[in-house]
Amino acid sequence: MISHDIHIHTHLSSCSSDPEATPENYIQLAKELGIEVLGFADHFWDSNVEGASDWYRPQNFEHIMQIKDKMPEDTLGIKVLIGCETEYCGNGKLGITREVAEKLDFVLVPTSHVHMKGFTVPAWINEPKDVANIMVEYFKDVTQYDFVTGLAHPFYPLSYENVDEIVGCISDEEFQECFGMAQEAGMSIEINTCNLPSTRDAETDLYHDDVFINMYNIAKKMGCKFHLGTDAHSIEAFSRNTRLKESVERLLGLTNEDIHPIVTDAVRK
Ligand SMILES: [Zn+2]
Ligand SMILES: [Zn+2]
Repeated sequence: MISHDIHIHTHLSSCSSDPEATPENYIQLAKELGIEVLGFADHFWDSNVEGASDWYRPQNFEHIMQIKDKMPEDTLGIKVLIGCETEYCGNGKLGITREVAEKLDFVLVPTSHVHMKGFTVPAWINEPKDVANIMVEYFKDVTQYDFVTGLAHPFYPLSYENVDEIVGCISDEEFQECFGMAQEAGMSIEINTCNLPSTRDAETDLYHDDVFINMYNIAKKMGCKFHLGTDAHSIEAFSRNTRLKESVERLLGLTNEDIHPIVTDAVRK
């Protein structure tokens, strides 16, 4: 499978505490890891869309586009894409407009940032079934935006420890419906290190790879295309890409056939 990673945060993302997380350093390490396509997806909220949280507001288009000044002239033969990770807050509130989306190479939307209570999800959301239901609802909603490229860390409920219990509330039929919609919309399904915890550090694991293997197998059966994302916010986390790729090939049996054109087309260019 083509080596790639299109969910990487630079130090421009407010939650990156690594000043070394620069395009130049990522490109250098990508070269060492044999990665062919690199996609930067800093956190983003479009100033044209009302209702940003205080955290998101400064992370607007001008802010994330500073990446261009930091980009080295020589990308060492690596195809570099500039995208974003924006937000969906339900009821049609998406943190990006079509106009801005068209200025970017790709747009990732998480439908599982269920930790931002009172912003992305109502404050009362807490019970496993409620968390599961809202992720299903948001997933289906986001497939309706044709300018969204991919769905970030699908059904991984951020900041919850009972991941398996929450994901266990979603039936195979619900997964089939969701991924069928994503397939029809041509949307890429992300395989994130948080979906396959063995690709991260073992001591932080509260659940296991099999929680999401079933889900990805359903997505594959529905004909979805995929991309990989370490979701690195630091250079150190980015080195997990090798393990992620190895796991995806071994556990899910994915090949280039399964990879979304956002990656495979980039290589051809
Ligand atoms: Zn995210
Ligand atoms: Zn991210």
